[in-house]
Amino acid sequence: MNMKHLVFCLTLLSAFSMNAQLTDPTLTEVWHPVPRLVSTSLPGGVPSDAYVLFDGTNLEQWERDTVGGPAKWEVKDGILIVGMGTKDIRTRQKFGSCQLHLEFRTPTGVDRKGQDRGNSGVYFQERYEVQILDNFQNTTYSNGQCASIYKQHIPLVNACKAPGEWQSYDIIFTAPVFNADGIKISSGYFTVLQNGVLVQNHVEIKGTTEYRGWPKNLAHGKASIKLQDHGNPTSFRNIWVREL
Ligand code: MG
Repeated sequence: MNMKHLVFCLTLLSAFSMNAQLTDPTLTEVWHPVPRLVSTSLPGGVPSDAYVLFDGTNLEQWERDTVGGPAKWEVKDGILIVGMGTKDIRTRQKFGSCQLHLEFRTPTGVDRKGQDRGNSGVYFQERYEVQILDNFQNTTYSNGQCASIYKQHIPLVNACKAPGEWQSYDIIFTAPVFNADGIKISSGYFTVLQNGVLVQNHVEIKGTTEYRGWPKNLAHGKASIKLQDHGNPTSFRNIWVREL
């Protein structure tokens, strides 16, 4: 057998060997690591590894935004209601990437329009707002309507229920990453389901939520989850978060 034949035979042997590997299904099975157990009971159940932020009883997990101290919002009949004019509230604990569940209800009997109807919002890391607004037969700018990433991403559809009806948000937040020089090296992302409907599908966070001007990208670490006091008596219940 000359060298040419030898190379040919080795090539055939190699191809046969690779094919033999591919026909064995056990070679592509991965057994470790094993996902840890998390239990829940649906519907409305809280996963066993979730951090409960509001269970209907008190505001121990929250404080007044910026100045600290007790949150001034009202807890009544298991429901949290925006304390109009008392400022935003934020969690005492700080979070990075996380999965958040909350339920909200925009007020009935409103005669207001646009951005002044059931406006609140949930901020991640005190900077990035998922808008809460009553957009049931109420029009406003699309990138500021309910389930928008405010002034950054228009929701895929309008999944709003009527005023007075409970709605849910399930939000997956991936935090942006900054290097030691304060430069953003990885963007943050949002995926949002409103009432079980996908409204934001892994959209890139362009920077901080700004009412005027462009998003900013100053470095930061973990920070609070914040609920917005926008002067409307929007209600909340069943708020929990899982760190990712
Ligand atoms: Mg808002």
